[in-house]
Amino acid sequence: MTETTQFVSPENNFGQEQTSEAVNLVTEKNSGSERVIVITSGKGGVGKTTTTANLGMSIARLGYRVALIDADIGLRNLDLLLGLENRVLYTAMDIVEGQCRLDQALIRDKRWKNLALLAISKTRQKYNVTRKNMQNLINSVKELGFQFILIDCPAGIDVGFVNAIAPAEEAVIVTTPEITAIRDADRVAGLLEANGIYNVKLIVNRVRPDMIQKNDMMSVRDVQEMLGIPLLGAIPEDTNVIISTNKGEPLVLNKKLTLSGIAFENAARRLIGKQDYFIDLTSPQKGMFQKLQEFFLGEE
Ligand code: ADP
Ligand code: MG
Repeated sequence: MTETTQFVSPENNFGQEQTSEAVNLVTEKNSGSERVIVITSGKGGVGKTTTTANLGMSIARLGYRVALIDADIGLRNLDLLLGLENRVLYTAMDIVEGQCRLDQALIRDKRWKNLALLAISKTRQKYNVTRKNMQNLINSVKELGFQFILIDCPAGIDVGFVNAIAPAEEAVIVTTPEITAIRDADRVAGLLEANGIYNVKLIVNRVRPDMIQKNDMMSVRDVQEMLGIPLLGAIPEDTNVIISTNKGEPLVLNKKLTLSGIAFENAARRLIGKQDYFIDLTSPQKGMFQKLQEFFLGEE
């Protein structure tokens, strides 16, 4: 069945409407169905952190308790994207070393109290987390009642990657429509499978319809078929992504809808298992906007 959204006007007031529901759900106990999802890619700079922040914020706004784990050691850019950089006092390393408790290292989002962030380490020098540490940590986060735990994975396939995927039961692979990124995504898909993670979904980021039309970029379908991974979402190239990064406010919080924001929001809905999601955008920009919307969202 198709669900029609509230997004009938370009004003996104979805956030405000959800507040009471979010608060209610926060008090509910977990039923053992927590989902631990690693956001990974192989190649750096393709949009893992952007995806983690936006999926996390969307799922939180739908009323779930969400913990975002920044496992990208050294860069810690998830806190910047969320505007929480000044609040990171403790990291998981401090918990492992007995310097603080988990609840002291978990930072609550200013806007959505059911969204929290945990950084693994501030510097590469101070990183001696083991797979077992990661597993224990995630188990403790689960015990606090978080329903979705999204792990922002570092690039590459070395120790940071191995630790980040250790506690995960599911994965979202992010790629751009470029052959180098796709090759790395394919390698990562193989590694995930070898580690028993079979529930894997794909985000194709930085898609440019104008370039696809001129045959200068691979289509989303081509990328998806090359990798053979079910598509969770296609996100357009959009300068608003960079603006929102600088502001420390994930796109999905924008009052004025952007196509990339809608695309992330829809990906989040698919991830939580809502039925495919139809957007009725009867806005003045209908023509161009709808065309793009059909391109990114319409054909599934
Ligand atoms: P990763 O975590 O994989 O290294 P990031 O999420 O940090 O990647 O993104 C890398 C850069 O690309 C950032 O500057 C980000 O703002 C930019 N970026 C990501 N997705 C998009 C997009 N859809 N459109 C435009 N810029 C993007
Ligand atoms: Mg990153």
